[in-house]
Amino acid sequence: MKAAIYHGIRDLRIEEVPEPSPKAGEVKVRVKYCGICGSDLHEYLHGPFPQSPFGHEACGQIVEIGQGVSGFQEGDPVLAFRKGAYAEYLVLPKERVIKKPEDMSWERAAVVEPLAGAAYAIEKGGIRPDDTVLIAGCGPVGLMALLGLKAMGAEKVYMTDPSEARRKKAEELGASLVMNPLIDKIPPQVKGLSGGRGVDVAIEAVGIESTLKDCLASVRYQGKVIVQGIFTDRAAVHMLGFVTRETIMIGTNSINPSLAMTWIETKRIRPELIITQILPLEKITEGFEALAQKTKEQIKILIEP
Ligand SMILES: [Zn+2]
Repeated sequence: MKAAIYHGIRDLRIEEVPEPSPKAGEVKVRVKYCGICGSDLHEYLHGPFPQSPFGHEACGQIVEIGQGVSGFQEGDPVLAFRKGAYAEYLVLPKERVIKKPEDMSWERAAVVEPLAGAAYAIEKGGIRPDDTVLIAGCGPVGLMALLGLKAMGAEKVYMTDPSEARRKKAEELGASLVMNPLIDKIPPQVKGLSGGRGVDVAIEAVGIESTLKDCLASVRYQGKVIVQGIFTDRAAVHMLGFVTRETIMIGTNSINPSLAMTWIETKRIRPELIITQILPLEKITEGFEALAQKTKEQIKILIEP
């Protein structure tokens, strides 16, 4: 089968590799789509990191069942969360597979994983529907957090991004106000919007020092900062304000697919609206390079092996 193999920074090659077969407890999936995740892009641009999850936002159809697997059949359409999905076939434990509801499109199925990341972060951060929230970054992570908050019934969600295309998308998806951090000074703006108090929660969804600083300086006394961005460089922050304002800072890096599925089923959110391009496997490098562009016009790219 054909698969995109990671050889190093900015070096992906389409290679012919042996087709995997499922062992006991595993299923084999013919991959329909695999989304490019921010963590994949990070790896593409800066090198691998521990327990690399390269190519993990997949969906497709089960074509073979390993020994002892119950509850799934050949032909079942599924969501599949395991690395190695930039390939025609993916083999994975059945615990990492969820049945795709019949009325769910493949495009929607392909973005449940990033939505599940937002679900995990929102739950772990204990965000409540009446909280005011700042999301720094209108990329896939920030936009999925926005949709999760909308699904919960949150009404005041402010967002920031230097990219015009991404700010537009955030507006389209229902952000209360979207600011450009290259023009607006974010903390005073956010404080102005919340009667001088600051927001209850800020979500860092980029992974750079300036957005982390904006988050820390925009939350109220005893407010929370949830950090989801993948940081390449160190961030120097003033810890005095952190201490005197008794800020709570939480890092999150996991998924809650069942909460994400509940949101989709009951709250009518449309996470597939973040998809901006679908490319065949042969053009995967083009996809990564597009996401690496400074203008950030692409948001979520799906690869179709
Ligand atoms: Zn992901």
